[in-house]
Amino acid sequence: MHHHPIVWLKQHVALMVETQHIASLSGFDQPPQHPSVGAFGTDAKARVRSLFFLWKEGPKTLKKRFGLQNLGIEAGLNPGFAASPFDAQPFPCPTVSLYMALLELRDKGLYCAAGDFYIDPWRPVNRAVITHAHADHARYGSRQYLAHRASASVLRLRLGKDIALQTLDYNQSVYMQGVRISLHPAGHIPGSAQVRVEHNGEIWVASGDYKVRDDGLSPAFEPVRCHHFITESTFGLPLFRFPPQEQVFQDIHQWWGQNRSEGFSTVLFAYSLGKAQRLIKHLNPATGPIFVHSAIRQTNSALQADGWDIPELPLPSEGKKEALKGALVIAPPAAARGTWLKAFGPARLATASGWMALRGARRRQALDRGFLLSDHADWDELHQAIEASEAAHIWVTHGYRALFVRHLQDLGYEASVLETPFAGEEAEAEA
Ligand SMILES: [Zn+2]
Ligand SMILES: [Zn+2]
Repeated sequence: MHHHPIVWLKQHVALMVETQHIASLSGFDQPPQHPSVGAFGTDAKARVRSLFFLWKEGPKTLKKRFGLQNLGIEAGLNPGFAASPFDAQPFPCPTVSLYMALLELRDKGLYCAAGDFYIDPWRPVNRAVITHAHADHARYGSRQYLAHRASASVLRLRLGKDIALQTLDYNQSVYMQGVRISLHPAGHIPGSAQVRVEHNGEIWVASGDYKVRDDGLSPAFEPVRCHHFITESTFGLPLFRFPPQEQVFQDIHQWWGQNRSEGFSTVLFAYSLGKAQRLIKHLNPATGPIFVHSAIRQTNSALQADGWDIPELPLPSEGKKEALKGALVIAPPAAARGTWLKAFGPARLATASGWMALRGARRRQALDRGFLLSDHADWDELHQAIEASEAAHIWVTHGYRALFVRHLQDLGYEASVLETPFAGEEAEAEA
């Protein structure tokens, strides 16, 4: 039995090639289209010739020969066709189509050539669609930004008052050169979005950072069906399984109460955008007074301006020494390094982070406690989101990408690593 060409082709579906050279590919009668059937015309002979060409040449040769970089090959079976040059026995005709990868990696970031825009570019570009305002995703210097309405003030706070910013609501669409762009809840932090990009029937979703569980602060993650799903893998190891947040908040309250009764104040380190507001939302002020670091108050004010319901909380410098005793203070992790802490007298320190799942993370930071609370998907949530996307191909960024890709392939997914400089929770610590 011959190695069936369709089997071979299916193993090479993710081949990437470049647009402008498609016409020069011999054996292809028509410009590439998507979805697939009939992309090489109705002439069965031409189709078989195209297939044979691909089969013989191999993706690498193809790429080298034509300098192609950004083309996908999709193969399927047309059950109506029964004559074949490959086998003595008739078999269903293989159909092949070429399609442009709608999103591709360029040196400035994830790029959509058809719409001429980037998603979360790491260098200045003309048009940047931003998933959320964390520092590794929202960078300074682009000419135009598109982001969710409820992240506008925080983006201006971080990128400058004068940025050219267009905003969208969830599920609202805009078009760039015929490419449809819409934003969908990512459940990560206030104003965070998955970016859905659609062109010629092909749909990609760049989910940015996300979590599937509802944190009671940001609108909950909504699965978006697509052909290509780009997922983070910050916590893409099975040891990362996060408890329900109710349980974590119960533990925090209990610890805070204990510290208070023993004459200590409680300092809780949390990222100034997202985690801090989630804590504020769920901490019970009946346990004792709550103070915030100035970086967090600044972020709170910006979020309030965008309509987020976040209570006013005092800075430690505004409180009486008496009140600080037994109080809970929320501060960004960077505050641990300065002399800022000394103002509180005896204090116990804790961090709320997904990294607290790792033994040693707490010890290295000289913390008294670590609370396992993350704004990223844990192991189970990653699987949930990937399955719900129903995507044919999964692209993995952040963190444990190579391991996670292998794991997805073992589960039967088509998956690849997407190399980006997004850094997950560590970068957010500096935000
Ligand atoms: Zn983030
Ligand atoms: Zn990130």
